[in-house]
Amino acid sequence: MSEVRFDGRVAIVTGAGAGLGRSHALGLAARGAKVIVNDLGAATDGTGTGSEAAQTVVEEIRAAGGKAIANGANVADPEQVQAMVDHAIAEYGHVDILVNNAGILRDKTFAKMTLDDFQKVVDVHLMGSVNCTHALWRHMLEREYGRIVLTNSSSGLYGNFGQSNYGAAKASMLGLMNVLHHEGSRKNVRTNMLAPTATTRMTEELFPAEVKDLLKPETITPGLLALVSEDGPSRMILGAGGGCFAETKIYESRGVALQGDDLSPEGVLANMDTIRSAEGQTPMEGAFSQTEKYIAMAAELRGIDLQKKD
Ligand code: NAD
Repeated sequence: MSEVRFDGRVAIVTGAGAGLGRSHALGLAARGAKVIVNDLGAATDGTGTGSEAAQTVVEEIRAAGGKAIANGANVADPEQVQAMVDHAIAEYGHVDILVNNAGILRDKTFAKMTLDDFQKVVDVHLMGSVNCTHALWRHMLEREYGRIVLTNSSSGLYGNFGQSNYGAAKASMLGLMNVLHHEGSRKNVRTNMLAPTATTRMTEELFPAEVKDLLKPETITPGLLALVSEDGPSRMILGAGGGCFAETKIYESRGVALQGDDLSPEGVLANMDTIRSAEGQTPMEGAFSQTEKYIAMAAELRGIDLQKKD
């Protein structure tokens, strides 16, 4: 396996003043990328701005011989994001890699959640990723090169108590990734998702001391670098934590075709074991794969030959 390098590549990493983003930015720079270290300098709940977080990471990169510039754009603000992208292109000529990592938390049970707390989390995670990706999308398509990562979470994939806003915002990355894969991969613009679990300020209260060391952000960054590498995949959900890497995949069960009296709520309930059985499950290439599958199953049950031409 040849060494993964990013010489000549330019990367934007959002929320890179701390935690995972900082580790990703350092990792990209250490392997030759010029990095735009974006960070608003917000607290975990998204309030406040203006810390020197991004600049500190830039200085770390420069001290190690790398190239980087700091940027304080709020990813939830499309104008600030456009200015960040314009600055990156003016400074380095192009952008090849985008790591959508900036994030905040506003945890509460859904019963206590205000719509404002819901909206703010969606604005940073979903719209922040959309704003950054949209500002670079045509640029990447025209250059026929782009590597984009969206940051999901086990909360978005599997659910976590008190995180309806965060879980919904994170799960939305799946829909975005799937469509960007369909629209971008033919132009060598690949979009993947990282689902990390790390000890950062976001999670520091969750883990005992002995686990904190195991789950350092640096144990995740090799996975991120693999996703945005020249030979990286497209449309992959990479789980990562503590040096462990796994793929989350979505499958649809083989299911069942019903007709007549069985095509009823009672029939669906009576067939629930078959509907839920993992035997014969398959991944779906795209939205119409499901439609095509149902047409084939329904036609087979009814003895209709779809190949027959009149
Ligand atoms: P962190 O709080 O250490 O870092 C997040 C950074 O994003 C902060 O430096 C913050 O200033 C910045 N930021 C927040 N809002 C911003 C905005 N609007 N514009 C620009 N920058 C902004 O958190 P982290 O744990 O490193 O999380 C990084 C990403 O990973 C987040 O998307 C988070 O949801 C995701 N994630 C983390 C974990 C984990 O275990 N730490 C698990 C799953 C997902």
